Amino acid sequence: MMSICDRYQQIYAIWQQLDQDILELRQTHQQQGGTIYCRQGCGNCCTLAVNCSYPEAALLATTLTDRQRHQILVKLPLLKQLCQAATGLKSFLQSYRDQFGGCPLLDAKANCSSYDSRPLSCRALLSTRPEAWCGIDFSTLHPLEKQAFLSSLDAAVVAYPSHYLAGPLERAAALERSLADEYAAQYQVHISGNMIWLLGLELNSQVGERLARKNDEILDWLLEQQKQYPYLMQVTLRTP
Ligand code: SF4
Repeated sequence: MMSICDRYQQIYAIWQQLDQDILELRQTHQQQGGTIYCRQGCGNCCTLAVNCSYPEAALLATTLTDRQRHQILVKLPLLKQLCQAATGLKSFLQSYRDQFGGCPLLDAKANCSSYDSRPLSCRALLSTRPEAWCGIDFSTLHPLEKQAFLSSLDAAVVAYPSHYLAGPLERAAALERSLADEYAAQYQVHISGNMIWLLGLELNSQVGERLARKNDEILDWLLEQQKQYPYLMQVTLRTP
């Protein structure tokens, strides 16, 4: 059985593997005449709700400074409120974009303050369009503008209808699935969800440690949490 320490080493290796794959995919895209517009100090994609696997959030939680922990914890009541007020996933994502104020781990220069420990889903977003497109609310666009944008995308290259390069997202999804499967095989549960919410769970409730100790009540508690906050976490039990 894998120890928590080994699990974290495994996740670091997976993150490095994705970074290496992305380097190659990015080079191929550029050799084919494509452009990647991501740059330091943009942070526009960090205004979107980021989902990740629980093991990644648990590892990220161990790397946070006191200040970062505080930045996460103070945003939890708003996150809870947005989830409870939402009428569906779409309405939750819309209110998150409008009211949450971006990822609390963005620093004052709009750089990720946890760059080395950011999850696969953050690493995998490579924009094939100028940065403004990453911050745009498509629901506010005129239908003709939206159509023009969609027509400009190369569906063979991007994760259509988004403008993000498809290869890194597909690779990240496969790595996340294999990580989640292994985690579920060991702890009998698959947990994923909003990164900030999962960080809050780990900081406040030490879910990773309780699962490792085979705490009997933790699975029921997680299912109850999912019922209360359906847009913030997904919990699937796996029978041994
Ligand atoms: S963890 Fe970093 S890269 Fe991911 S959304 Fe937050 S600031 Fe952006």
